[in-house]
Amino acid sequence: MKRIVLILLFVFILVVARVMIPNEESCLSLAFDDGYESHYFVVNSLLDERNFSATFFVFPETVNEWNGRSLMNASQIWDLSRDYEIGSHTMTHPYLNELSDSEIEFELASSKKLLSEIIGKEIEVVAFPYGRYDERVLNISRKYYLLARSLFSESDDFLISGFALENDTPVEDVCEMIDDAILEKDNLVLVFHDVTEMPSQWDTSVEDFEKILDCVESSKIKIKTFGECSLGN
Ligand SMILES: [Zn+2]
Repeated sequence: MKRIVLILLFVFILVVARVMIPNEESCLSLAFDDGYESHYFVVNSLLDERNFSATFFVFPETVNEWNGRSLMNASQIWDLSRDYEIGSHTMTHPYLNELSDSEIEFELASSKKLLSEIIGKEIEVVAFPYGRYDERVLNISRKYYLLARSLFSESDDFLISGFALENDTPVEDVCEMIDDAILEKDNLVLVFHDVTEMPSQWDTSVEDFEKILDCVESSKIKIKTFGECSLGN
């Protein structure tokens, strides 16, 4: 009898706690893909000025240049990891859905291992290059990561979709998305690529980037790393 009372009391406390502490606040995560050097030299200081956290998804292939752009080296990635979350963006940035099972395994497992060695911490999140994946990619990812990120797709408990900005995405649209997220109590993942004075299609100009950060700041939305925001921590 005493035991039943205790169990009922425990259930009652759980229910009260759930009502008293509603987990209904939206959060925003700022994600930066590909490990461009601008992330280290430009983005880092602009985030730091505002005390914003962020997640950098890098692919640790042993080159420091990609499509004519400079990428961060291992010590810069390590340096960022002291203040920000580092996620895997695979090993070589392929279309994962076009690879064999063993190649997918290599891309997901080796990048996690190598990046963990670089930063001295566990890598828990992965972003699929070009947002491409299939059922095999998802199944193998679940073995190594707590969360995966795609682009412009549906989200569930494991796979979270991000919105990737293009160089002509109006700043006002981004500000509106943030306001909508607050209103709808949704989480939002904004995905940036290179932040540069000469943006290509999927990049953002430094000017626009600063305006977006101002918008984020004035919205008062909670800014968390991708892992924290999506796992509800
Ligand atoms: Zn990428």
